[in-house]
Amino acid sequence: MSYTGKLLRVNLTTGHSQVEELNKQWAVDYIGGKGLGLKYLYEELAPGVAPLSPDNKLILMTGLFTGTIIPLSGKLAIITKSPATGTILDCSIGGHFAAELKYAGYDAVILEGKASKPSYLYIEDKIVEIRDASELWGQGAQETELILREKINQEVKALAIGPAGENLVTMSCITSEFYRQAGRGGVGAVMGSKNLKAIAVRGSGSISVPNIKQFASSMKEFMQTDILTDTNLWANTDGTALLVDFNQDTGILPTKNFQQGTFDDYQAINSDALKAVRSGKKGCFSCALGCGNYSRTGRSTVEGPEYETLALGGSNCGISDLEAIIEFNDLCDNLGMDTISVGNVIAFAMELTEKGIKDFGLRFGDVEAYLKIPGLIAAQVGIGVDLGLGVKKLSEKYGGSDFAMHVKGLEFPGYEPRGSWGMGLAYATSDRGACHMRAWPVAQEAYGDLDAFTVEGKAQLVIELQHYNAVKFSLILCDFWALSLETMGTIVSNLLERTVTEQELSQVGERVVNLARQFNVREGFTKDNDTLPGRIFKETLKTGATKGQLLPLEEYEKMLAEYYSLRGWDRDGRPTDAKLQELGVN
Ligand code: SF4
Repeated sequence: MSYTGKLLRVNLTTGHSQVEELNKQWAVDYIGGKGLGLKYLYEELAPGVAPLSPDNKLILMTGLFTGTIIPLSGKLAIITKSPATGTILDCSIGGHFAAELKYAGYDAVILEGKASKPSYLYIEDKIVEIRDASELWGQGAQETELILREKINQEVKALAIGPAGENLVTMSCITSEFYRQAGRGGVGAVMGSKNLKAIAVRGSGSISVPNIKQFASSMKEFMQTDILTDTNLWANTDGTALLVDFNQDTGILPTKNFQQGTFDDYQAINSDALKAVRSGKKGCFSCALGCGNYSRTGRSTVEGPEYETLALGGSNCGISDLEAIIEFNDLCDNLGMDTISVGNVIAFAMELTEKGIKDFGLRFGDVEAYLKIPGLIAAQVGIGVDLGLGVKKLSEKYGGSDFAMHVKGLEFPGYEPRGSWGMGLAYATSDRGACHMRAWPVAQEAYGDLDAFTVEGKAQLVIELQHYNAVKFSLILCDFWALSLETMGTIVSNLLERTVTEQELSQVGERVVNLARQFNVREGFTKDNDTLPGRIFKETLKTGATKGQLLPLEEYEKMLAEYYSLRGWDRDGRPTDAKLQELGVN
């Protein structure tokens, strides 16, 4: 068994910390990572708690595989109530922090309360200290990590926030190893609201797995047969930037605030363009795939930019200057902000300006103005105060709700749903708002054989993908390993020394999805929140493979009704008692 069985609870208000036994039954029912963190939050958080109040909790959760040599298993799950959406929020972050936490002896950390002054948490095996962070406060996320390494040890693993998190910006993220982020939904602001600048960990322990020789040889085999293969190696050679070309070809590349699905200058921001400025490689703990590609220009060095940054900070803002996008990425990383949400809010402000609704002095393609925005948002000065509200609240203040591209307050990722109708359903029903990591039917619809412009079969497809991803994020396996549920079951069975079938895992996925839904229902979310911006239902796209396409509202409603029915939820999208009982969710 690769769990330590220990959970560390830290109350930042009192400074008290204690070690508790991990709830074994919950670890069976929800596996770990997303699922187990969600279960703890559901049980411990009273409904209606303000996300930025000391009553909210921030949970760091490892997984069954964390710290082992299982490939691509080095990520950490972070779970809290989102200040951007008010929904459940879970993010995963790469690097080496999760494994180090396990080696320090903990499967999870639950952070409660609020420190009386800027602090950081230091964990070294049994040593747990809340330390003064006054010299770190105001520093960038990357500088914070550098200072902690200097002060503590070059090998220390850390999570840190930048000024955006300190200033409670709801698009702020948590950073690790300079370029890895728990990006979405404002996790950085939750840390900032607790006066917590960073968490640093050192561990000297180890974890055990059964039949180590057999385990090691099967992992070696997986590496050759399942990971270092043509279906995965694109992550190493090209990275997600490859999707710029795919999405241009299929007409789903967000352009000028989702006004178009193609970008005339896409070749200036695609994978080939990026290769010309590539300067190095990096991987997470236990990952031979190593998808991290460094880019260096005269002004900046970043790991990436990933596709989402190229799309939302590039084509969606009408920006084709790759050097500027890399600088935008660099600014957001150090200030501690999610490039998807920041790119979206800039694009939305550009369209508000273009349409004469509110003049922010921002125009599509205006590089100089665009590069000033991250700093203004993070510092909460000038127009950064308005833009820091995010797309939803900005539209409530000034108008433009039809083209405010968000679901439940979380801004759209880089896939145009008018060219992938199932993606529209996936955004609308995702537990944390518009998200491509809960289900990504784009692979089957836009790149595969499935008709993208029909609702037939899409509800079932989205459900299956949501269950699959709920399992994957509970095992905290990196998304870039396209392994089957059956393979996941084989690895889990070897570790637990009992047979865990594909069907059992799928039911865990369904349980996690239903518990997340219960959390949101308890917070007052209804069917009315499972929708998309008016633009998707009313405006046809004008160019490329999606020319003439929209997602008709009546078709969308049909797909949503079928989704609820297949899930065993009532017509308002609430899980029925019978469904909850069947899954043991209570
Ligand atoms: S593929 Fe990339 S993100 Fe995934 S574990 Fe490997 S290095 Fe980390």
